[in-house]
Amino acid sequence: MTATTELSPLALETLNAIASGEPLPAKANSRTIGALARRGLVIQIDGKPVASSVGLQVAEPPASSTEGKRKGKRTPQECRCGCGEMTGGGNYRPGHDARHVGQVARAVVAKEISLAEGMDQLGSQALQLKAQAQIVRLTPAA
Ligand SMILES: [Zn+2]
Repeated sequence: MTATTELSPLALETLNAIASGEPLPAKANSRTIGALARRGLVIQIDGKPVASSVGLQVAEPPASSTEGKRKGKRTPQECRCGCGEMTGGGNYRPGHDARHVGQVARAVVAKEISLAEGMDQLGSQALQLKAQAQIVRLTPAA
């Protein structure tokens, strides 16, 4: 019943690439991205595909305690949002990517860190674009 099982391997690979900011698979085309967009997994920002929060969760399926080792090549690492928890192999615990984007955006708006530092903390281009959109929204009009 999950969206993951309905996606073709190419679509899933494409979604993963979009979510992590890596180059898209060579076989991915506008129809592949269109299929992801129709499922609400990908949104277009300035013409570029960006994983939606739903898409990011599909791209990084939550690791259950019993099935966390399904993808053998991924090793758990510390969640990048700073919560100190370990991930199932991605950069973030499920949902924590959005939390980190919000933290970075607020810190940049409050001038606690520079925009470049904030972008540096966010591993993927998709998250950087999301943070930039939030920064624009949070910045008070001069
Ligand atoms: Zn976290």
